[in-house]
Amino acid sequence: MAKVYLDAGHGGKDGGAAKGSRKEKDDVLKMALAVGKKLTEKGIEVKYARTGDVEKKLNDRTAESNAWGAQYYLSIHRNSAAPDATGNEIWVKSDATEKTVEKADKILRAVCRADGLRNRGVKKGAPSYTDFAVNKYTKCASSLLELGFITSSKDNDAWDRSFDKTADAIAKSLCEIVGVPWDRPREKGDVNGDGKITTADARLALRAAAELEKLTEEAMQAADWDGDGKVTTSDAREILREATRLSEK
Ligand SMILES: [Zn+2]
Repeated sequence: MAKVYLDAGHGGKDGGAAKGSRKEKDDVLKMALAVGKKLTEKGIEVKYARTGDVEKKLNDRTAESNAWGAQYYLSIHRNSAAPDATGNEIWVKSDATEKTVEKADKILRAVCRADGLRNRGVKKGAPSYTDFAVNKYTKCASSLLELGFITSSKDNDAWDRSFDKTADAIAKSLCEIVGVPWDRPREKGDVNGDGKITTADARLALRAAAELEKLTEEAMQAADWDGDGKVTTSDAREILREATRLSEK
């Protein structure tokens, strides 16, 4: 299974950059979780550096990713500078291979198309030292994405307006990078779209049949086991049977 490590920068006492009450650590966590959800729906395994507002050392993040065997490591940040600075940029390690640069470039271009901000380019190293730790100590290809300037009202507007599009753009590029098709139709029975059929899917179908849950069009189609155009308890029962059969294999 494809594995992506998502590192929401900063956390806890380390708020990162800020503008008024808006903190980098909060923005990037929201983005990491949104991207991760989309990747999980495509059947990609995701590990997060953090899922809450906690502090975590950079070494612990990279060691965790290395031990887990991530295929790609993406660190998500927001830039800060004078109020007129604007745009997205992405950093790779100073001795990054051509392939690593291409991957970073793919993410950056997709993000700029999504939020409409200026493309400041793929940059090597770090602003005032050799390399960002998250790029230096990761065994797999990695990059550090600076999603606009938190110090710019224009960039913050773009962030808010395009949040979901940007999350989509990042997730889609990551899919391509780890070789998972973005547009693969959801398999019948895989109601939650995590790439497998389990009792969780049967439960979702049952909740939909009882009208306790409203499913997306894609999920409805996956839940409609007998293909009669509606989700019923008998569909849920068939999905449960399939999940049980698969788990016994
Ligand atoms: Zn940062």
